Formats: sequence, structure tokens, C-alpha cells
Amino acid sequence: MIDFNVPPYVGTEMDYVRDAAEVNHKICGDGPFSRKCHAWMEERFHAEKVLLTTSGTAALEMAAVLCDLKPGDEVILPSFTFSSTATAFQAVGATLVFVDIRPDTMNIDERKIEDAITDRTRVIVPVHYAGVACEMDAIIDIARKHNLLVVEDAAQGVMSTYKGRALGTIGTFGCYSFHETKNYSMGEGGALVINDPQYIQRAEIIREKGTNRSLFKLGQVDKYTWVDRGSSYLQSDLNAAYLWAQLEKADEINDDRLATWNFYYEHLKPLADAGKIELPVIPEGCVHNAHMFYIKVKDLDERTALISHLKEHGVMAVFHYVPLHSSPAGLMFGRFHGEDEYTTKESDRLVRLPMYYGLRSEHRDRVVNAVESFFAINSTV
Ligand SMILES: *Cc1c(COP(=O)(O)O)cnc(C)c1O
Repeated sequence: MIDFNVPPYVGTEMDYVRDAAEVNHKICGDGPFSRKCHAWMEERFHAEKVLLTTSGTAALEMAAVLCDLKPGDEVILPSFTFSSTATAFQAVGATLVFVDIRPDTMNIDERKIEDAITDRTRVIVPVHYAGVACEMDAIIDIARKHNLLVVEDAAQGVMSTYKGRALGTIGTFGCYSFHETKNYSMGEGGALVINDPQYIQRAEIIREKGTNRSLFKLGQVDKYTWVDRGSSYLQSDLNAAYLWAQLEKADEINDDRLATWNFYYEHLKPLADAGKIELPVIPEGCVHNAHMFYIKVKDLDERTALISHLKEHGVMAVFHYVPLHSSPAGLMFGRFHGEDEYTTKESDRLVRLPMYYGLRSEHRDRVVNAVESFFAINSTV
């Protein structure tokens, strides 16, 4: 069976984890490996400040707290996303306002955002689906015009860019995930990118259980104490050590994934040209990280048949997401603004193919062959 995902592993992870324990004698948060990861991301992505967190979800939760929302404040987000995009803002009492996606990138349709804005709107949350950027120029313009904050859910977008800028560094905040299903991993983990320096100090306090511990460590206060809201959002240095091994090989991982992505694209293009499937669209100005390779088929029935055909041929393929606005919690905590032109229809026909660092070339061949054989059998001509 060809797995859908295999967590990234470059081989030096365990050496660094051992170093954390045996050499550094530092395994809690913000040790030497955390500092290496922070510095690497700040330099590579030209980010003002990066803080590792226990998950992408935790990074989103920190961003939601930093946005200082009050119950009833509204947050605009796509319905086609992972639950964490919504739970983070629901947890601070915000009302979720779902906006339709664009059928080409599956990202929030920037042209439909402004109509959803009310006098309670405070935040826009663009989700860079599959590591392909949302139309950030338009989104930032809308946010400026209406005085809104922007939280980029860049969980899937580490190492992707929009007009030369790293995803996660364009909004007020950016949130990365280092879950095992993402391009770079520490098991469970994430990072908050803070692009407006006025939020840095408060972010450090919120991450350190509401204490001013980081100021204390810098010698700027003479004792540390509880000063604000907070939780424990910082990850262990063991996890950071694991991630560091992969950040050192970030380009190698990225190139390997892109090679698989390009292989799929090239070899499935004839099926797309024949009108059997649709391939992902990468708009001009977007450089993606091959987080995901998906195809779209005719409808839900064809997708169900394709996934079971692939399984019979030893290929694990999956679909997602059940749109949040039609989920039980989405119905409770949010509303869909405008017409659901594409969210449900497009999500019903999307299939994700196996994609991970180190996917062997004979396996890529088998995936393509299995997709081709489905359409050969099901061909009506
Ligand atoms: C993975 C993911 C998250 C959550 O990240 P975790 O690290 O699993 O908490 C949030 N949003 C999107 C779009 C994701 O893909």
C-alpha cells in the first residue's frame, strides 16, 4: 500500500534530540534548539518575530487572544478549512462569518469579503490552502480600509511565497503548523509569526502562562509575575531539536516534494486536457511548497468510486474538508455570508494523492497509473 502521508524524517533528528538531553541539559521550552529555529525562520522568511508553539492550533489561539476580541465581534474566514481556523476564534467568543472560496485555488474569494463586513467585524483569516497564497494584496487593502487585523493561517504554507514575501509574514500575524502531516515537523508543533512589533511583548507574556518571564530573563524587570491572560503555548526543546534537523534540510525537502508535485502534474495533464479531471491552479506571483497534490473529478459519486479504485490498486487517497458552515459546531458558532457557490460543490469533488518527502519514483508511477486506469475503465467513449 502506498501511504497517503509519511512524516518527514531526514535522519539527524534523534542526534539533536539526544544533544538536547545530554549536551544542553535543556529540554523545556526556549532552549538552544528553539532559539536556532526562531532565528532560522526570522532570517529566512524576513519575519519580525517567530515563536514556536505546541501546535498550529496553539499559534492560532495566541493570535486570537492578541486580537483582543470581545464576544460578538466577527471574524471572516473560509468555510473550506480545518476546524482549528475556527475553534481558535470561537474560543474567544467571536462569531464566525464564513465566506465562499474561489474554485481555482480553493482559497477565500477576496472579492466576496467586503460584502461580509459589518460594524462588528474585527479580523480576516485567509487560509493558504495547499500552500498556495490567497490574494493578499486585495485582502490587505480591504483590511486597511476597514481597520481590520489579518491572521494568516499559513499552517500549510511554510516556505511558500506571495510576490516574493513568505506566507505568514504578510498579515498582522501568521500561523505555521509542524504537525506530522505538514512539510516540516516536530510531531506536534507550530509557530506564531508576529509582523507588527507592537504585539511582540504581549505575545511572549501570553505564551508564558501570562507572566513577564521573558522580560525577567532579559533583566528588564527584577521579578516575574502574572500580568495578563495566557496559557502554556511554548513547546519543549526536544521537539524543537527534531524540527531543527528538518529546517537545516528545508530546501532539500522542498525540492523533493516539488519534484513529486511536478511529476503528478505533468503525467496527469493528458487526463485534464481530455476533460476528465482538473488540476491545481497556481496563480502568477505565487510560489508554492508542494504541500499537497489534489485533483478534482466530476462529482461526489465519481470521487467515492475513484478513492475505492485507488485503494484496490494499493494507493491511499483522501479527501477533506467537510465545509465548516454545514458542520454541527459551524452551525452553532457561525453563519455563511452570501451564496455557497463553490465551497460545498468544489470540496465534494476534491481528491488528495499521496504526497510526502521521500515518495519513491516507482510509487509516483503507480499512483499515476492507478488514476489513469480508473478513467480508462470508466470512459464512456
Ligand atoms: C494543520 C492545520 C492547522 C492546525 O495545525 P496543528 O499543528 O495540527 O494544530 C490549522 N489550519 C490548517 C489550514 C491546517 O492545515
